Amino acid sequence: MNVYDSSRIADMLKNEGYEETHRQAEADIVLFNTCHIREKAAEKLFSDLGRAHLIQLEREESGKKTIIGVVGCVVQAEDEQIIKRAPFVDFALGPLMYHKIPEVLRQIKQNKERQPIVNTEFPAESKFDFLPENKAGGACSFLAIQEGCNNFCTYCVVPYTRGVEYSRPVAEVLAEAKRLLATGTLEINLLGQNVNSYHGEDATGKERNLAYLLHKVAELDGLKRIRYTTSYPADMTDDLIECHRDIEILMPYLHLPIQSGSDSILKAMNRRHTSGDYLRIVEKLQKANPQIGMSSDFIVGFPGETDADFQQTLDIVNEVKYIQAFSFKYSRRAGTPAAVMDNQVEEKVKKERLEILQNLLFAYQDKFNQSCIGKKMPVLLEQKGRHKGQLIGRTPYMQNLHVETDSANMNKIIEVKITEATTNSLSGKEI
Ligand code: SAH
Ligand code: SF4
Repeated sequence: MNVYDSSRIADMLKNEGYEETHRQAEADIVLFNTCHIREKAAEKLFSDLGRAHLIQLEREESGKKTIIGVVGCVVQAEDEQIIKRAPFVDFALGPLMYHKIPEVLRQIKQNKERQPIVNTEFPAESKFDFLPENKAGGACSFLAIQEGCNNFCTYCVVPYTRGVEYSRPVAEVLAEAKRLLATGTLEINLLGQNVNSYHGEDATGKERNLAYLLHKVAELDGLKRIRYTTSYPADMTDDLIECHRDIEILMPYLHLPIQSGSDSILKAMNRRHTSGDYLRIVEKLQKANPQIGMSSDFIVGFPGETDADFQQTLDIVNEVKYIQAFSFKYSRRAGTPAAVMDNQVEEKVKKERLEILQNLLFAYQDKFNQSCIGKKMPVLLEQKGRHKGQLIGRTPYMQNLHVETDSANMNKIIEVKITEATTNSLSGKEI
């Protein structure tokens, strides 16, 4: 979602006459788009800001002004504290406020004295109504269809930083998808913090779900691949599961976070599903499309997690055999119910459990990648490789694949026979 937001911000700044640069010393504006999900991500901001400040001071010596801005979830959570900790920041806007950047920049330029601007409102209007056209470019595009969350898992800041659930209307999503297709997109990844609770209105004002939207998007001319991220297990409706059977261009890969395999931990997390519910959903998905590969997020060391609870997480991994996954140590986030639970797990235990879990997850990921050797797969080429004549792309299962091919194949889908596999990537030969 942050990659999507950043690219929309870049579109907006381009409309204001700015160009992108990768050298900070050249930049008239330095903007940080921030994540507050875990402590480490949030703390990184302040060290990055420190470095940006040094460059701001150097540029000032040669008479150049540098505007430093911060957007995103850290701003929503820290509010005025950002300016207290980093007084050289010119503006700070929450994730639902970044459509105001052009206005804020005009204000900053008009002000004679430096007056930092902070805005963390949850506005009544939808920012999507104010953003310029999505000029993503490239063959893989993100498209945000939903934002915010009403689930309030007890560890999570998202409902506080991204606000309550909002779904964009069907027509708006289709219009953005058509624009992306017109600029060469072949793959669209529909995004939302809780994407499968999508309930956008159609032209008649009727609420439509994600299954409906997927069918509509799949009908668009020229689209070769669809994905959606991230889903909440309790919102995996049967009609959505059937999309994995009926929509050919829906990729056979689903990121469906379970967080923990223990029902008592899931309950303490306020997840509205048990491990049994989750396994039943996976079974239905596998029935709908036997080729499907599963991915998940896991948290280890949630308050009160015992060795037996943790073992149940390992059991789920052994049962589902994830082809890829993300796993994290529980991070105590101020303002969330879990942060004040009195049965916090020691850091050492969290570290040990994470290592055990990751070793198991990597083993399954490696096994899956090895099982791909000898198979043919369509690969969407998105990046130049390190070696000359090499391009990197993604398989339907989101694996990175290196292949030697004509550079004219960039942003195209080619058929590849897999010849080598490691835990993190595949290599193959064009056929
Ligand atoms: N809406 C999605 C996840 C969004 S947050 C879902 O419910 O599955 C992305 C991931 O960050 C979560 O799946 C979770 O694994 C992780 N996460 C969120 N808060 C966390 C915390 N306090 N500590 C550690 N990991 C966390
Ligand atoms: Fe956070 Fe996801 Fe839970 Fe919402 S459903 S509170 S985004 S973990």
